Amino acid sequence: MQEWEATRLHPAVAAVLTAKSVASDLKQALQALLSTVDTNLAKHKYILGDKLSAADISIWSTLYPVYYNPELKSAYLAECSHITRWIEELASAKAIQEAVKQWGGSAAGPFGSSSALGIPQVASLSSPVGSPDEGAAVELGPTAEEIQAAKDNWLNGRKKLQKPLIPGKIVLPVKDRKNVLVTSALPYVNNVPHLGNIIGCVLSADIFARYCRLCDYNTLYISGTDEYGTATETKALEEGITPREICDKYFDIHNSVYRWFNIGFDYFGRTSTPQQTEIAQRMFLKLKDNGFVSSQSVDQLLCTNCDRFLADRFVEGTCPYPGCGYEDARGDQCDKCGKLITATELGSPRCKLCGTTPSVTPSQQLFIELGQ
Ligand SMILES: [Zn+2]
Ligand SMILES: [Zn+2]
Repeated sequence: MQEWEATRLHPAVAAVLTAKSVASDLKQALQALLSTVDTNLAKHKYILGDKLSAADISIWSTLYPVYYNPELKSAYLAECSHITRWIEELASAKAIQEAVKQWGGSAAGPFGSSSALGIPQVASLSSPVGSPDEGAAVELGPTAEEIQAAKDNWLNGRKKLQKPLIPGKIVLPVKDRKNVLVTSALPYVNNVPHLGNIIGCVLSADIFARYCRLCDYNTLYISGTDEYGTATETKALEEGITPREICDKYFDIHNSVYRWFNIGFDYFGRTSTPQQTEIAQRMFLKLKDNGFVSSQSVDQLLCTNCDRFLADRFVEGTCPYPGCGYEDARGDQCDKCGKLITATELGSPRCKLCGTTPSVTPSQQLFIELGQ
């Protein structure tokens, strides 16, 4: 019941109290919730039966501003005679009158005439899950700070409530708001996306982005196609067109498939755009200038016929794992036994493009020193 109050009734009441004009679906939602309470109170004296409980106090506090605002009372409680009976009965109890008085209540109700609840905005209400001092003794009951925060909220809730976010066309960070950047693994553009691409990648991020927008966080969901990689080059050679043409073709396909599935990207771009290129190069140069990039010699397969070092996917050969020996294993993975392979370990390696046997040759590669 407490959870129902916190997650359904309370947000609906807070929304009605703070809205300039109440949308019809919000009105209906609150009326339906109130009707549940009213039906319950028709059968029982209190929320949970014949005894007063914490649930009564909790729900009563939430409904009090509705009851004490004549307009809201007639809009929402006119047909809830049992709620009215119950609110009045509790309001006449001495303990409750004293509490209301102590917490700054007035004739217009404990919230005054205009304030409202804003519990979701209270930063100091700590989450019970995964707090850093889990090992410490669990304290029962609210802390002094939580009580103070609740009191402050009770008195100043509406004033402290953030104004609803008006989404702009371009999402930029907003000061003093929760800003959330969501992204998902960037898909390669060498295929028509299948359901696995959607479910395992862009959809889960989309769900999280939608949740953040519902919470009124300033949310930016951004993704795009990863156009640099051997996968692109391999596919281009296969189709006999340039990597750029491959990317143009598959970017359009990816973009339209995700739009069709209603994936709510704020921006779906490409790693090959001029802005992206400039940002990536600037980051690389900054790392390099600060000494975080080092150069090391790595053995690689060189095809003298094609005059190029062969990326893993451009080499085929015999799987080095005992008991497998698959002859068409790729330089990065064996399709028969599934094991990952280092290209230089392949038996009888051959260049995928021309069939020549490549030779192991040292090549200089750049590394980012993550340890620093
Ligand atoms: Zn194998
Ligand atoms: Zn070759």
